Amino acid sequence: MLKKKIIHKLLKIVGEDNILTSEEDLTCYSYDAVNQKFCPEAVVFPGSAEEIAAVLKLANQEQFAVIPRGAGSGFTGGSLAILGGVVLVTSRLNRIIEINTENLTAVVEPGVVCGEFQKEAEKQGLYYPPDPASLAFSTLGGNVAECAGGPSALKYGVTRDYVTGLEVALPTGEIITTGVQTIKGVVGYDLTRLIIGSEGTLAVITKIYLRLLPKPLSSITLSAFFKDLEDSAHTVSSVIRNKIVPAKLEFMDRGSIECVNTYQNLGFPNETEALLLIELDGDPVAIENEAEKVKKICLEQGSFRVERATTTKEASNLWEVRRAISPSLLLLNLTKMNEDVVVPRSKIPQLIHRIEEIKKKFNLIIICFGHAGDGNIHVNAMYDEKTPGERDKTEKAIHEIFQEVITLGGTISGEHGIGITKAPFLTMELNDFEIGLMKKIKRVFDPNDILNPGKIFYG
Ligand SMILES: Cc1cc2nc3c(=O)[nH]c(=O)nc-3n(C[C@H](O)[C@H](O)[C@H](O)COP(=O)(O)OP(=O)(O)OC[C@H]3O[C@@H](n4cnc5c(N)ncnc54)[C@H](O)[C@@H]3O)c2cc1C
Repeated sequence: MLKKKIIHKLLKIVGEDNILTSEEDLTCYSYDAVNQKFCPEAVVFPGSAEEIAAVLKLANQEQFAVIPRGAGSGFTGGSLAILGGVVLVTSRLNRIIEINTENLTAVVEPGVVCGEFQKEAEKQGLYYPPDPASLAFSTLGGNVAECAGGPSALKYGVTRDYVTGLEVALPTGEIITTGVQTIKGVVGYDLTRLIIGSEGTLAVITKIYLRLLPKPLSSITLSAFFKDLEDSAHTVSSVIRNKIVPAKLEFMDRGSIECVNTYQNLGFPNETEALLLIELDGDPVAIENEAEKVKKICLEQGSFRVERATTTKEASNLWEVRRAISPSLLLLNLTKMNEDVVVPRSKIPQLIHRIEEIKKKFNLIIICFGHAGDGNIHVNAMYDEKTPGERDKTEKAIHEIFQEVITLGGTISGEHGIGITKAPFLTMELNDFEIGLMKKIKRVFDPNDILNPGKIFYG
């Protein structure tokens, strides 16, 4: 339990309206999108970088953990107070400070919601591409801390590709600025990239400097239906091999289609085993041409139906469907182990084939969907927690999938990070020396291990 005198000091820093300590209130901050619960000892809502720095200084003096939290939508337990301590929520730091239409840049606070920022940029004819399916609620601070990505990563890259600099509060209480507010900059080590994706373990992000793009002139959305799962995987490679890079190229297997169908009654053909959602964007004439080529490739690879969204509303509904897959899995009333593996695009057919084998071997429901265009497949192993042995069996199946991913030259996480759920698997991808080096970096930033302790590195 945090001593009363510490609570009092925290209250002095953030103000009495910006601290929670009652059991009921703390419960609301004891979970994220992972099925685990850890109650913090207090929750604070600082209103400035200086207040964040003061909380961190106090944590160093009094030796308590501080856990940064945006919207709490993380899939790996990153914002959970697994060792107790104080959860630091960024919701009050929610200003878009500037959108600069001359330089195509922006400055935002970490609590700004991703989708809201995208809309503001669009009003100025600009485009912020990173589009995690959680964009309606996840924060830009959380997106930077996890290096979030979404369907548009295929053509436009992920969060790190749009962050030119950061203002952060270090665990020892100093406020520093990293990187640049220009497009180029090579002065010193690239601390910006080090902090991006560091899952709130190296620093608390207090301001983000972003670059933006002009909004693409037009887009076309196609949906291609397949009776054979592996045909759809071959189609992905074939589109790219033909030198077409769609803005988005997403994949849904039968399990995900059935779940969203039940959720939203979409009326997709019964015989559909896999669906590809493809968006092309750019110059209207050029993408008409590309859309014809993509349609031809889909049909050649075995698609039995290729449809084109005829209105913007129809297209945006299709992308809503894609974003609804993850929540719609709840309808199965099972617990999910949610992985986001990535393999080189050309290896997707092999991965899909192997997952089918593992599904049969372990007699498990495994639902796959995701960003096929960049090789990032969300693998959701569904199991009944109440049945003895089911969790163990599911973990073994995931372990075999990870082994295949590594063999194929891939990575065990494309965008969700390691947090606590994937920490036991870290050694599958990194060797002891590499992990040791990362731990040394953590110690340089955070000598007393007060910032988000117990994350990424197991044990
Ligand atoms: C339905 C659903 C769909 C999703 N789809 C995607 C997807 O398509 N792509 C994707 O990448 N992710 C996806 N996610 C995962 C999640 O939304 C992302 O990881 C997101 O970036 C987390 O943002 P958040 O604001 O919720 O952060 P939180 O969950 O609150 O925190 C995530 C991590 O960031 C740290 N953190 C938060 N704010 C800061 C800060 N200011 N400074 C330092 N560290 C900080 C936390 O300590 C924690 O380690 C999805 C989640 C859900 C529930």
